[in-house]
Amino acid sequence: MTAAAGTAVGEVLITLRLARGYTQEDLASLLGVSQPTINRYEHDEREPDEEMLERIAEVLGVTPEFLRHAGRLRGATAVDAHMRRRASAKATVWRRQEARLNEYRMHVSALFEQVSLHAEQIIATFDPFDTDPRDAARLARMQWRMPVGPVNNLTGWVEAAGCVVIVEDFGTPRVDGLSQWIGDHPVMLLNARQPVDRLRWTLAHELAHLCLHSEFVGDAPEQEANAFAAEFLMPAEVIRPQLRNLDPGRLADLKRQWGVSMQALVERAHQLKTITAEQRSALYKKFSRLGWRTREPISDELRAEQPELTTVIAEALRDKGFSAEDVARVAGYASPQHNTMLTIPGKHLRAV
Ligand SMILES: [Zn+2]
Repeated sequence: MTAAAGTAVGEVLITLRLARGYTQEDLASLLGVSQPTINRYEHDEREPDEEMLERIAEVLGVTPEFLRHAGRLRGATAVDAHMRRRASAKATVWRRQEARLNEYRMHVSALFEQVSLHAEQIIATFDPFDTDPRDAARLARMQWRMPVGPVNNLTGWVEAAGCVVIVEDFGTPRVDGLSQWIGDHPVMLLNARQPVDRLRWTLAHELAHLCLHSEFVGDAPEQEANAFAAEFLMPAEVIRPQLRNLDPGRLADLKRQWGVSMQALVERAHQLKTITAEQRSALYKKFSRLGWRTREPISDELRAEQPELTTVIAEALRDKGFSAEDVARVAGYASPQHNTMLTIPGKHLRAV
């Protein structure tokens, strides 16, 4: 990075461009400049003048101040995001989601420069070389004083610890979610195209990364995150006695009770040795015959989890007399139409 003196908009510009799925050529043609010019801006080899900066901001739907300052906000240095994605996801697809998360991270930083948030809880961090992920999950539950048994409204618990959760349609089913710390506030971006049980698993998995992998990556981060998620959502001590004599009907009941997929329950049972490997494959054969390997039933019956934190912040600002335009601007968005973060449900319905 050559972020020397000057405004150094390069990194922010790259992030915003990728988040919108634009190539350098796309952005160049929107601005009526050449692609090499965009390339120079992005590498901080040339600074856009004031007028150009305003045009770039307008085209990208952010405020000129955001473009100028986002790269210097606290915790703005880009670090690799944790991402839960299929092996089949193309790089262009997941890079765009990574850029979206980075952009949200910058909007969240801009917002928290103006608004202070007092979270009831914190997300504790552990050293993955010292702490078994299952112990980390137990400690995290204990620290949050969660009731024993199934986790009701995981989104609410995560938000109560100051994590900004954004759920939106990624336009592809191949990426489930991403997360990253910024200063004191972690951000999670989750794909709306997943059934509730899968969304909850993604949340617990990303929570694991925030708890375990903020400083050290660990030996096997994905396995560690899944071990954490399993213990967090299905504590061994409580669920083990329920995981005997499994059949599709029993698994359906357990799915309703625990809010996790039947496949997750089968895996858990196998981990906890309440079923054998043969029983596991017999269950999966039944699932295949029923078409449940691709689409499980019951998911629609589970209570949807809606993030509320950003809405609460938006409403608090409205109560202080902020207009929709002011609310958007505080977070660095050019207008309420561009503000995908601080939305108030209902207020935008008419625009649809
Ligand atoms: Zn992961």
